[in-house]
Amino acid sequence: MSNSPVFRFAPSPNGELHLGHAYSALVTDHLARAERGRFLLRIEDVDGGRARDEYIDQIYDDLTWLGLTWETPVWKQSQHMENYAKALDKLKQLGLLFPCFASRREIAEHELTPTMPDTPDGFPIYPGIYRDTPAKEAASRIAEGEPHTLRLNMEKAVALALQKTDVISFQERQKDGSYQVITVSPLDWGDMVLARREMPTSYNLAVVVDDALQGVTHVTRGEDLYYATSMQRLLQILLDLPEPLYFHHPLLVDMTGRKLSKSDDETSLKTIRATGISAAELCLQLPPLIL
Ligand code: GLU
Repeated sequence: MSNSPVFRFAPSPNGELHLGHAYSALVTDHLARAERGRFLLRIEDVDGGRARDEYIDQIYDDLTWLGLTWETPVWKQSQHMENYAKALDKLKQLGLLFPCFASRREIAEHELTPTMPDTPDGFPIYPGIYRDTPAKEAASRIAEGEPHTLRLNMEKAVALALQKTDVISFQERQKDGSYQVITVSPLDWGDMVLARREMPTSYNLAVVVDDALQGVTHVTRGEDLYYATSMQRLLQILLDLPEPLYFHHPLLVDMTGRKLSKSDDETSLKTIRATGISAAELCLQLPPLIL
């Protein structure tokens, strides 16, 4: 058991699961079975403003309806905040964090500089304001209670990571089951936010800490998180965490080719289940699980 591969499905309870989540959970379960691995469910409820208990109950209900089973107790990120704080502190000790006092508006106005590239997910890159704020000034603004986020100094972080490893890369599963090494450039993301007042960790930080603590060996998730893997690998290297294998499966799209989203009512599993379809019938309508 202790040497078994460990897979996880890690939904955020910010809305109802849709068909795309069902597909992702089924692909993960399928690969876990094929590798005689364990299947874990992790509830990524760090966003206190959006996560809701009724969505968590609905996730259990939908996954059970799909025929999935998972180990208990279920890992809920909101119950493990101290682990993310420890990781954040380690990055702070390494001198890689800086407080940013800019409001979203200040950043947006600053970012109108046309020469700046966007991040891989299409948002303007952080323009570096506050990166070089003198430590004393930053400390007194924090002491006065000024709201701020904590950002990773990306150039410093990559430089430190490259002292520990020759290249920053991850291994991505291919259609034939082999793995390809993908070299990545986390610099493309700029100085990422790792903590904010209303959410003292970030998705990327919590994911790498939990994947390590839960012994996850295989990260299986949608293609929309392919580029985020570069930030996660960087954090794993900096925090001395093990490197899992990755598989980013294609996303399901709607009739117009748009990726499914939690706000689409007609593709939510709850709505689909209400039509009376069985899980077996639904599975027949999904793309094959091994691609
Ligand atoms: N919680 C993330 C989501 O629902 C997925 C995280 C992951 O699989 O790494 O999009």
